[in-house]
Amino acid sequence: MKIYNTLTKQKEEFVPVEEGKVKMYVCGPTVYNYIHIGNARPMIVFDTVRRYLEYKGYDVNYVSNFTDVDDKIIKKAMEEGVSAQEISSRYIAECKKDMAAMNVKPATTHPLATQEIDGMLQMIEELIEKGYAYRVEDGTVYFRTRKFPEYGKLSHKNLEDLQAGHRDIKVTGEQKEEETDFVLWKPKKEGEPYWDSPWSQGRSGWHIECSVMAKKYLGDEIDIHAGGEDLIFPHHENEIAQSEAANGKHFAKYWMHNGFLNIDNKKMSKSLGNFFTVREISEKYDLQVLRFFMLSAHYRSPLNFSAELMEAAKSGLERIVTAAENLKHLMSAAQAGRSMTEEEAAIFAGSDVYVDKFEAAMDDDFNTADAVSAIFELVKYINTHGDAGKSPELLQKFYDRLSSLCDILGIIVERKQEILDDDIEALIAERQAARKEKNFARADEIRAQLLDMGIILEDTREGVKWKRA
Ligand code: AMP
Ligand code: ZN
Repeated sequence: MKIYNTLTKQKEEFVPVEEGKVKMYVCGPTVYNYIHIGNARPMIVFDTVRRYLEYKGYDVNYVSNFTDVDDKIIKKAMEEGVSAQEISSRYIAECKKDMAAMNVKPATTHPLATQEIDGMLQMIEELIEKGYAYRVEDGTVYFRTRKFPEYGKLSHKNLEDLQAGHRDIKVTGEQKEEETDFVLWKPKKEGEPYWDSPWSQGRSGWHIECSVMAKKYLGDEIDIHAGGEDLIFPHHENEIAQSEAANGKHFAKYWMHNGFLNIDNKKMSKSLGNFFTVREISEKYDLQVLRFFMLSAHYRSPLNFSAELMEAAKSGLERIVTAAENLKHLMSAAQAGRSMTEEEAAIFAGSDVYVDKFEAAMDDDFNTADAVSAIFELVKYINTHGDAGKSPELLQKFYDRLSSLCDILGIIVERKQEILDDDIEALIAERQAARKEKNFARADEIRAQLLDMGIILEDTREGVKWKRA
């Protein structure tokens, strides 16, 4: 299995630090609002990487943080007149709902920055002791980049160039030794949450969070560190400097970065205002469609979001779900108990090639676009060979093969029951009550709402009957 490593700019054979185990850290979102579908891309992509590693038999320890203290969270809290913690815990809960709807597995651990302050104090202390960090007069602690000669190795930037580039944009009032030095600890401003430290009452910088959480939950040396490509510099570069200076070991073996999700070829971002939240998309589409859309491209390529591509993803997914549904129907109609004939065993073996294609695609730096093509070829094969008259054993084997490959991509082949029977009954009762009160507008609205979900109402003399379209 090969992984493209940002550190070496090449695809490398994957060899874990410890046999059979994968230690993986994925930078998570800053939680001050609903996540947008750009933030969803690393979640879906790296959840798929995790699923494939698990399919390959690795025991994956997957850690992904929530940044729950930050300027934007504090700003939002001030606007609403509530605590920063109230904002972050609200949006963590909402983010977890979105993740579940996108079939993103919960991480082994989802650490929160505010719960890890002790570890950060310790690492900063250690960096100061070793000469890698220094405190300035106002109580800020900076990392001394000059002391870490490998600074720039991930982003392939040269320290001198970086410093020259920074010189023109010097922020007045800062007391750093070099322009590239970055904050490990900063003193509080009025009204901000803070923690006590030997340097000032304040809070940690963003980069130190991830170094500390990765160390605590995974160890000094990890296998895969991942995030969106905007994190390569400075965030991941700074993480490497902090962790390697403090621990004296190589931090992460493989650095993986997803490309941007764009709109009109511009990065989707909160600051540009060109974003859709995952929640907004869920009003129009099942989030399985969003997931399928994301996986239709290679994770390192930029991906342009458009209605056409979402519609294409929707019909592609429908083809898979329909094939699985047909197999179920055929199984229930098939002669029970009959096992595969020799001829059928040969037919089944004829589909091995698609599993091989799928694995070859995923082994090549998680090429999900080609893996999806292999699934479509399998669907075509199943539609041709899984017909009435075949044994339930063969049909079941086809079904299991299709659903297990889809499961690696986090795609569920079983058609979702869009609405539960009880909810339908409750809406019908509400419609009857509305009609009684001559509120026909509401009654019609409920009928239309149910129709949207594929539920057809029929008013009969015996009462209202309904069926699924
Ligand atoms: P943030 O909350 O901005 O720190 O972002 C959380 C994660 O989402 C990081 O891994 C970012 O790199 C990633 N991300 C943010 N915007 C996009 C985008 N438009 N496309 C792909 N990844 C993104
Ligand atoms: Zn991080």
